[in-house]
Parts: sequence; C-alpha cells; structure tokens
Amino acid sequence: MKKKVALTGDRPSGKLHLGHYIGSLVNRLRLQETYDQYVMIADLQALTDNFEHPEKIRENVFEVAKDYLAVGIDPQKSTLLIQSQIPELAELTFFYLNLVTVARLERNPTVKAEIKQKGYTDTLPAGFFCYPISQAADITAFKAEVVPVGEDQIPMIEQTNEIVGKFNRIYHTDCLVEAEALLSHTPRLVGIDGKNKASKSLGNTIFLSDDAQEIKRKVFMMYTDPNHVKVSDPGQVEGNVVFEYLDAFHANKEEVEDLKERYRKGGLGDTTIKGLLNTTLQALLEPIRARRQALCEDEVREILWQGTQRARLVAQKTLSEVRTAIGIDYFLGRF
Ligand code: ATP
Ligand code: MG
Repeated sequence: MKKKVALTGDRPSGKLHLGHYIGSLVNRLRLQETYDQYVMIADLQALTDNFEHPEKIRENVFEVAKDYLAVGIDPQKSTLLIQSQIPELAELTFFYLNLVTVARLERNPTVKAEIKQKGYTDTLPAGFFCYPISQAADITAFKAEVVPVGEDQIPMIEQTNEIVGKFNRIYHTDCLVEAEALLSHTPRLVGIDGKNKASKSLGNTIFLSDDAQEIKRKVFMMYTDPNHVKVSDPGQVEGNVVFEYLDAFHANKEEVEDLKERYRKGGLGDTTIKGLLNTTLQALLEPIRARRQALCEDEVREILWQGTQRARLVAQKTLSEVRTAIGIDYFLGRF
C-alpha cells in the first residue's frame, strides 16, 4: 500500500531551537516511521527577509541539516531536501500567485504579525508578503497530506488548502491534494523572555546546539514571577516560563504538578525549579550535541544531494500534471 505523505521544513536563517524541537521535530521523528516524509530546508523562504545576507542562509543550510540528523531524522526514512535546488517549486508558485488576492494575503495573521515584528512599512518585499504561496507550492508539490508544524503555521495550511480547492475547481482536475496541520502537545513554546513565542529572530531561544554553559545561563535568565521575591512568598505558575518548559520537557508530570503546588503555596525558590529544568534540558541536549559534533560536512552534503534529487523527481511529476491541467503543455513529452 502506498504510504501517506508528510512534508515539513524550516527556514535556515539560524540554527534549530527548542521551539522547533517540541513544536514539530517530535512529530517528525514519529511520522518518519510510517509516512513518506519530506523534510525541506526552506532557504528560498529564508531569503525573503534575509536577501541582503545570503551568506547567513548558506551557512545555516548545513547547520539546520546537522540539527535534523543529530535529533534523529534518518535519511533512510525521511527525504531531506534543499528548496532552492528544485526550480519546479518556483514555477508552481508562479501559477498559484494568480489564485490568491492581495487582500487575502493581507489577512494572513502570521504574515501580519511578522510584518509588524520586522517593522516593514512601504519597505515590505513582495517576496516576503507572498511566502505563504511559495509554501503552498512546497506542500502541494509533494502531495503532502500531513504537515507537522507549530501553531503559527495553521494559517499557512489554510491558505494552501484554499489554493488547492481553487486550482482543482478552475482547471477541472484533482491533481492537487489538501493537507492537514499536525500539532504537537506543545504547539507554541514561549521564549525565555516570557513575552513572545520562542523564535530565532527574537533571540529568546535555547538552540539545540547550545553548549552546557549557555543552556544554564539561559535557564537562569528565564522570566518567572516578578512578585515571588522571597522563597517563602507564594508564586504564580501561570505565565511562568520555567514551569512552561518543565511542562513541555520534563518526563515526570506528577513531579511537575507537585512542584507547582508547592510553588503556589510558597516555600519553593526559583533556584530550585531552574536547577531542575537545567538538569532536564542538559539531559535532552547533551546527546544531540554529541551526535552533531560527530557529523562531517561532506557526509551532510551528500545526504542533502541524494534527498534533493529524489524530491525533485516528485516535484517534476506534479508540475507536469499542473501544466497539463492548465493546458500549457504544448510540447508534451518532448522536453
Ligand atoms: P523566525 O524567527 O525566522 O520566524 P522561527 O524560530 O519562528 O524563525 P520557523 O523557521 O519560522 O522558526 O519555524 C519552523 C517550524 O517550527 C514551524 O513549523 C513553526 O511553527 C515551528 N516553531 C518555531 N518556533 C516554535 C515555537 N516557539 N513553538 C512551537 N513551534 C515552533
Ligand atoms: Mg517563525
């Protein structure tokens, strides 16, 4: 029986962090066992807001690939690919651009929030504004049915499905397939600042490759309860970053609930809960860091090359179906 298809990806504008891990990577590790999974390094998408710093993207393509392999994305089970090396994705994007209005793009809440965060006014690059359409091309090129993502990506999947519906209707075809977002038990990990989602562009994250000292430093910087001054003071658990991370990463849920209880009552200090979180995160990240350090660049490049070639054949097939559906296959079979 044909396996179902999953597609996911990340922008290589920095290394992967705990938000990626808990929001999406945990599901990808599971999906690769039973799905035909494509894991895309979305360098074209990263360029939409980093086009003046291509060297940053180039460098991080390999960093992100190393993160994937270190976490356990297995090239025998998942296909790793680099977006920019599959030109068919750009062509699909061009067809889809006709099916989405500017007004609809303006309503996309994630893009809206990102425009605000980046301070774009009349400086907003058209490429950035349109990246949800390129993401729709990525998802549909592989006919992905499942997309393991964090919460902020839900509007992208909705927009993709609108494009799929419109395309199939207008061109009387069923060649494009609708996708479903798959969320994890922590679809939105808060940053260490306690204000925003953990995100690389906000500098409020713990990276999978951070060393032991850096992890500890960040844990001890975490926002807790500003009114919890003395150990004996009652403390607030809601909105307390340390507890949000313990909920997300500590295996023993009972122990966490017990600590919350004691923290609320008073008598439990921030140093104790931060110490526990530090131990938890060190245990999670130490083996990942060790596997990462053992990888060599040539080996990683070869894995990406093999995966990208395999993926390109799939994208080519979808693109040819799309051209035929539109009726612009003038030289069918002759290229
Ligand atoms: P940027 O700051 O450039 O937007 P980012 O850190 O938000 O980067 P993305 O590359 O935008 O990371 O996200 C890649 C994937 O990881 C998406 O599926 C996204 O939903 C998920 N993700 C990112 N940050 C988090 C988070 N804090 N919690 C849960 N999921 C996350
Ligand atoms: Mg993001």
